[in-house]
Amino acid sequence: MPTANSSSVSSPSPATVYLVGAGPGDPGLLTVRAVECLGRADLVLYDYLVNPASLDHASATAELVCLGHHSSGRMLSQDEIVALMLQGAQEGKTVVRLKGGDPSVFGRGADEIEPLRAAGIPFEIVPAVTAGLAVAAYCEIPITHHDDASAVALIAGQERHCKAESHLDFGVLAHFPGTLIFYMGVRKADVWSRALMENGKAADTPVAIVRWCTWARQQMIRCTLETVVDVIAEKKIRPPALFVVGKVADRAPDVSWFAARPLFGTRVLVAGSPGTSEKLRDRFASLGADAVTQGAIRITDPPDWAPVDEALENLDRYHWVVFSSKNGVDYFMRRLLRLGGDARRLGGVKLAAVGSKTAERLGVYHLRADVVPERFDADALAAILTGDAAGQRFLLAGASRGRQLLADELRAAGAEVDPIVVYGNVDVEEADPNVAAELASDEIDWVTVTSSATAQSLVRLYGDALKNARLASISPLTSAALRDLGYEPSAEASPHTAAAMVDAILQAAQAGD
Ligand code: SAH
Repeated sequence: MPTANSSSVSSPSPATVYLVGAGPGDPGLLTVRAVECLGRADLVLYDYLVNPASLDHASATAELVCLGHHSSGRMLSQDEIVALMLQGAQEGKTVVRLKGGDPSVFGRGADEIEPLRAAGIPFEIVPAVTAGLAVAAYCEIPITHHDDASAVALIAGQERHCKAESHLDFGVLAHFPGTLIFYMGVRKADVWSRALMENGKAADTPVAIVRWCTWARQQMIRCTLETVVDVIAEKKIRPPALFVVGKVADRAPDVSWFAARPLFGTRVLVAGSPGTSEKLRDRFASLGADAVTQGAIRITDPPDWAPVDEALENLDRYHWVVFSSKNGVDYFMRRLLRLGGDARRLGGVKLAAVGSKTAERLGVYHLRADVVPERFDADALAAILTGDAAGQRFLLAGASRGRQLLADELRAAGAEVDPIVVYGNVDVEEADPNVAAELASDEIDWVTVTSSATAQSLVRLYGDALKNARLASISPLTSAALRDLGYEPSAEASPHTAAAMVDAILQAAQAGD
């Protein structure tokens, strides 16, 4: 019979590294598998081409490391990235290496896998939509077409990593019977366009330049092989951009379904509590706007692990464990796993979740909530649980500064209740440097201000840079707070709801303000 070996529980064996494609940018294009991997990651290493919104699927306990930003200069070298991956996995951390597009299409996926294989570290590769193919949907360029193109070639326009100027045979590419899609082609456009023409491709071959494909800032410009270099200079095209070369480029409408959405091209800073921010962001996304978020609170370890550990050691004492948020689930479960336990410890208790997001999070740990109220709040849960709470023992896993209501009602119904703080939430004191840079360089069109407290915190964090954007206020009270601080709102919600605030922005946009 196998015997339990306690030392193997506490000394970490290398964890899995997931090489995950994040798709071209639209967070809706993440695969279900990518979301699952992000949910279980302890360490996420991501590229600048990855939309930060996809990181919301990582748990609050995960460490998120950006490997370099195009505007902030330094990018980590391939060796440094591999070292971080190896080190994380060897420390027993589940690592997600998140790459823009598909990890294997010009993503150096193979270079990152080799050292993992050599070190005996388990890995998985999660494919995704590559940017070059996304142009078909988001720009309506039919990259294959029964009359014009029966094949597609994905081509590196700049071969950074090759010693020779080019490994490409332009004689072959010029006569390729289909669509040519150049990645990384901005800097060397003169080289590849000239080489194609010199090898017999017509100078008037249509070209579509597509920047930031699938993002709200997507841009499509049409030209020809002969004019592409001038257009790049004239329109100041910078990466990331794709070049679709072939007759099909002329078949795209000027305004695709994606670009036709009412807030297309608008960038919004959504500030405030996580619940409202999430709702606002989904709504903006469906209208075609990109939303960046500035959280008002930061999630941390609880002030003291001792009561948590004590409860985790004695879970068999309880009839119920109640989770008040998805962060609560993450902190509770990760602590349980770190202490050497697993989901079986919860075999004898029932689980309740305050809302569907919390219940979904339990699913990441292969647990199912026995009770989830239809309405997302503690009162609704109390109404369900108090019915047969008498004589039952409840463990409430919540946040510091969490509400007392559920505990009070359960006690009043005759239950024994142990509230524990499984994570802390503190006010954010420092500005997000990416958001600050975007505000400073005029890249943000609107800022949503969902309360007077949010108004104060935004001004504290960003000061006068806020004047570069327009402010949408949720109510007259919030507008007054903004005016007191010296900022005039450009739109105000009526009624005073988040949905109406989005409508107010929409109206301003449609009025062409
Ligand atoms: N693995 C990625 C490609 C990485 S190479 C993928 O599968 O999409 C980086 C190049 O990809 C950029 O220079 C640009 O040519 C292209 N690219 C990536 N995302 C893009 C996007 N959203 N819009 C336009 N081009 C993009």
